[in-house]
Amino acid sequence: MKYGYNDNTQISAHFNAAEFRCKCGKEHDFEISSELVEKLEKLRAALNCSSINVSSGYRCVTHDKNVGGSGTGQHTLGKAADICCYGQDGQPISSKVVCCKAQDIGFTGIANITAAYIYTHVDVREGSKWYGDEVHGNASVTDDFYKYFGGEDMKGIDVSAHNGNIDWNKVKADGIEFAILRAGFGRLEKQKDEKFEENYAGAKAAGIPVGAYWYSYAMDEDEARLEADVFLKVIKGKQFEFPVYFDLEESKQFDLGKEKVSAIMRAFLEKVEKAGYFVGLYGSASSLTTHTADDIKSHYTIWLAHWVDKTNYSGAYGIWQYSEKGKVDGVSGAVDLDICYKDFPTVIKSKGLNGYGKVPDPTPAPDETTAENQTAAVTVTIGKDTYSGTLTKV
Ligand SMILES: [Zn+2]
Ligand SMILES: [Zn+2]
Repeated sequence: MKYGYNDNTQISAHFNAAEFRCKCGKEHDFEISSELVEKLEKLRAALNCSSINVSSGYRCVTHDKNVGGSGTGQHTLGKAADICCYGQDGQPISSKVVCCKAQDIGFTGIANITAAYIYTHVDVREGSKWYGDEVHGNASVTDDFYKYFGGEDMKGIDVSAHNGNIDWNKVKADGIEFAILRAGFGRLEKQKDEKFEENYAGAKAAGIPVGAYWYSYAMDEDEARLEADVFLKVIKGKQFEFPVYFDLEESKQFDLGKEKVSAIMRAFLEKVEKAGYFVGLYGSASSLTTHTADDIKSHYTIWLAHWVDKTNYSGAYGIWQYSEKGKVDGVSGAVDLDICYKDFPTVIKSKGLNGYGKVPDPTPAPDETTAENQTAAVTVTIGKDTYSGTLTKV
């Protein structure tokens, strides 16, 4: 379909023509494939996105060349879009997950296009297939993104002093890929978990990425802020690849009612978030349903506790604690088992949160120097003369 530069027709439930127009600065017509938009809608639904940002849609020949293309790529045909998909928690969904889902939906050109794994190129090219990862050059990298990225689900455990001495090398050898460590409880610094330092050092030394949690006894917002202060002191100077969580589950706290409980949660979560942490909330399926306000569940990542084979909890969550009776080498007795569905380490490190320093902001929309065009700029020196030009793939 052809559109005029100022056309802002709503072309589907969630996409407007204006999102796809060329960003070269000249006000010219543009094209959008209806198949592209249909598939983007399917992708949006499959990933349960809160929104999809189109950073580059149609590109005229000049603009395509300006951003490094050949002027004949899928963007110039209106068949491609570079997108960032946001989850219900407002965080970008990893491009690794987006590539897999785009493959399910039948996009014929798909590629991760940023080192932070936040932006994805998708297109509906005809007659050929391109599954790329531009962080590693321009070639097709796989015929199955699920195999290429190794799946997103990670197996984990969460532990506290109650689990005694842990042999983290054995834990690692048993296939555990992350651990959430209790840092402590309440509002006194002496209530730091006795094994926190040991567990942190042990897991890190074994190459197991970690998160942390704080167990709450707060009965009002002031106490929650005191707990946040102590938690921040205890975790200061450490680095967490996974989120840090607030754990509120005492029955006397729930007796305060949903409104007060939610206010306590907000007080803690806001303070820790402001201090530069990717913070989330731990809760049982029932406490999340009956005692947690919606704004908390949509803003903060959820660590769901539900000890069943298949959870019927309908809200979004990043980690599911599915058992308290796990057996893992290196831990004596029963241990809590978790599954993680999100690539937290990539997001946390790319945003410089959880003790990782600030890095150059990866979020500005890239107009990628594209690969889909199969050309290469080359400079060679022969004797005293230098030659430069463009090579085209045959
Ligand atoms: Zn243009
Ligand atoms: Zn692209």
